Amino acid sequence: MTRAALGTAERPVRVAVVGSGPSGFYAAERLLAQEDPVVEVDVFDRLPTPFGLVRGGVAPDHQKIKSVTKMYDKIAAHPRFRFFGNVDVGADVAVDDLRAYFHGIVYAVGAKADRRMGIPNEHLPGSHSATDFVGWYNAHPDFRHLRFDLGGTTALVVGNGNVAMDVARILAAPIEYLRATDIADHALDALAASRIERVILLGRRGPAQAAFTTKELREFGEMHKVDVVVDDREITLDPLTEHHIATNADRTRDANISVMRELSVRPPRGGGRRVELRFLASPVRLIGTERVEAIEIEANTLHLADDGQLRPRGTGETETIPVDLVFRAIGYLGVPLPGVPFSSWTGLIPSEMGRVIDPARDHEPVVGEYVVGWIKRGPQGVIGTNKPDSVETAESLLEDVRAGRLDRDVPTGDVLARLVAERRADAVGYDDWLALDALEKERGAAQGRPRVKFRSVEAMMEALGRDA
Ligand code: NAP
Repeated sequence: MTRAALGTAERPVRVAVVGSGPSGFYAAERLLAQEDPVVEVDVFDRLPTPFGLVRGGVAPDHQKIKSVTKMYDKIAAHPRFRFFGNVDVGADVAVDDLRAYFHGIVYAVGAKADRRMGIPNEHLPGSHSATDFVGWYNAHPDFRHLRFDLGGTTALVVGNGNVAMDVARILAAPIEYLRATDIADHALDALAASRIERVILLGRRGPAQAAFTTKELREFGEMHKVDVVVDDREITLDPLTEHHIATNADRTRDANISVMRELSVRPPRGGGRRVELRFLASPVRLIGTERVEAIEIEANTLHLADDGQLRPRGTGETETIPVDLVFRAIGYLGVPLPGVPFSSWTGLIPSEMGRVIDPARDHEPVVGEYVVGWIKRGPQGVIGTNKPDSVETAESLLEDVRAGRLDRDVPTGDVLARLVAERRADAVGYDDWLALDALEKERGAAQGRPRVKFRSVEAMMEALGRDA
């Protein structure tokens, strides 16, 4: 009997996508978009809930951004799409299992660790990573046990990206504002009792080099009962920056500066919390015995680096600011997946056009293995940035199918489903997620909120009537 060609309805290409964040969904969408080759996509996630950072990272007051998941629901409704939630690739199912069961694997695992400041006393109680705080207030099951002591008056957020903005906004926001969101109940309780009055955002470079976007900056200005304090001296631009602005167009930068100028002359509203924007200073050390009591910062100037960017350089001039909490929001970092090439230098799975390459083997492509999203290109860009990035990878995979590079025998999808069920009796499918989604929305509707999230895998299993 002759064997059907790979990519036909009788013998579809079997692809595993590891991770169900935006990059994983966009890769699945592209792979499912044509009938030649016919591709089946199985998406794995270690949580029972899909969507990665859209659920666990995007701030709870940014529901409009989260509505992108409607698109992902449509992708998931494709007859050749399956979801295996609550299945940890690397623990429950090995990468070698996926190699045996699929023609292609797409790693869409994101960047779940965070960068360290590398300064003395960084690990004192009261010093936290923004990623922990974000996971905690977004009801990510991994972070629900964390405690943030909000009994002091001053918090300082290191970093000038959108994550720093999110953290500062959640700390400063009036509780009535947060009550209308899907923030985790434990975070809502803790923030309702918060005594934080002052939140300082610290950028190591100047206002023109801030990584946050204008919409996020404006949100502070619009927030009821929050004063944004921008000292005129902080936003006076240095000559190198002036020159850089004159010779390099950047609409976000220009809009940011203009909003900061508006904020700097706005009379204080009083009666609420203050968010202070500080620039051109780097953390030097945290000070405290039992916990963080202060931070020493050093003023920076900018210099033109070899790469054409303006970089910070310490001046030796220091200042000590009493603080009760410090959050580092200086970037996410990828972590290795056992058995998959990884560069600890870049924090990425090395790749070319989305094909995983192996530095240990002269950068040869690892046949049938691909990468998308933050673990491919680093922790930057908005959700939409993932679409072209995932399409590039999916095209490489489809090209490899057409060139016959992935043609080998693998078991069918049913055999894989049995393997998963043996390893994880509590694995969930997309219908289970849709049931959880409906329950969360129902709980939210009762409180006038978009949803009330389940905070633990056990609670999700109980709600589904499944044994954990
Ligand atoms: P980011 O945009 O890369 O910002 C990191 C910030 O940390 C930069 O200001 C950087 O300064 C600073 N930094 C790095 N190392 C530092 C150090 N050692 N000391 C002091 N400061 C340091 O990263 P992110 O905020 O984690 O955001 C990740 C991505 O997600 C971004 O693309 C972001 O736009 C996106 N995001 C979007 C939204 C939204 O659309 N609302 C929300 C959250 C996140 P330098 O510039 O000097 O390096």
